[in-house]
Amino acid sequence: MDIRTVGVVGAGQMGNGIAHVFALAGFEVTMHDISEDALGSALSTIGKNLDRQVSRGKITEDDKAAALSRIKTTKTLTDLGASDLIIEAATERETVKTAIFEDLQPHLKPDTILTSNTSSISITRLASRTDRPEKFMGFHFMNPVPVMQLVELIRGIATDEATYKTLLGVVEKLGKTAASAEDFPAFIVNRILMPMINEAVYTLYEGVGSVKSIDESMKLGANHPMGPLELADFIGLDTCLAIMNVLHDGLADTKYRPCPLLTKYVEAGWLGRKTSRGFYDYRGETPVPTR
Ligand code: NAD
Repeated sequence: MDIRTVGVVGAGQMGNGIAHVFALAGFEVTMHDISEDALGSALSTIGKNLDRQVSRGKITEDDKAAALSRIKTTKTLTDLGASDLIIEAATERETVKTAIFEDLQPHLKPDTILTSNTSSISITRLASRTDRPEKFMGFHFMNPVPVMQLVELIRGIATDEATYKTLLGVVEKLGKTAASAEDFPAFIVNRILMPMINEAVYTLYEGVGSVKSIDESMKLGANHPMGPLELADFIGLDTCLAIMNVLHDGLADTKYRPCPLLTKYVEAGWLGRKTSRGFYDYRGETPVPTR
């Protein structure tokens, strides 16, 4: 199937990044959010991120103008009905996501492909609540979307080969690389990454190392571009905890037990960069370790 028009639901940090890369690759994008403010700040973020790409010589001013001209915004979900492909990137809550697909369904073309950018919710379960589980897939972009090369393609139990092949072609057109994953908790990247981050928090909790020594060890000793605790602050500690809970509940193995110290940081509202405090304190000029 030839995909030309794309509807993005949710204009938060992932939705705006997704709209950005699709518009730059030549797709016509309609971005929806329930919040007017979210739509406004998404457009301004996209503008700033495109400017950065221009200043680094990655794209031209004309590319930027063309990309911006391909993005429309709307607060009316049904305006997305004519899209060839829907990418749902709204808040990570199952009831929110199922309501979006239910509301969209009567307005869709019969061959529209439905996808979700969820980090953890079962694709098979989301698909089963729609009228087209064979045309439903997980389409998992990484944050920040314009920078990160990988996209995970997750097949639900009923996803057909034509849908999978179509999305492989879309990923290629975006200039990104696809990794295929089966629909099990946290897919591939987070299945491997989150237990490592959780183990780094246990290493801190048990006093094996300080925030600084843990991050430096992994940067200089394992050649990671960011330390695990620095990365956790970037992702958001609430998100890290939510994914560990999905692994723990979904795989029923104690090796996925979230570290009590991670829970404590989340309970304190120290969620990382977004709240200016996590394993580091970001309120001053340079980040200061909190342990
Ligand atoms: P976010 O909080 O930045 O944005 C979510 C947006 O959804 C908000 O603007 C909100 O107004 C909007 N929204 C809520 N309910 C809606 C509805 N009914 N209809 C339309 N819009 C609605 O969240 P995010 O970080 O962009 O995450 C979005 C999705 O992407 C989640 O499923 C998350 O798991 C997934 N994801 C996040 C990351 C990450 O690093 N943040 C990475 C990969 C995938």
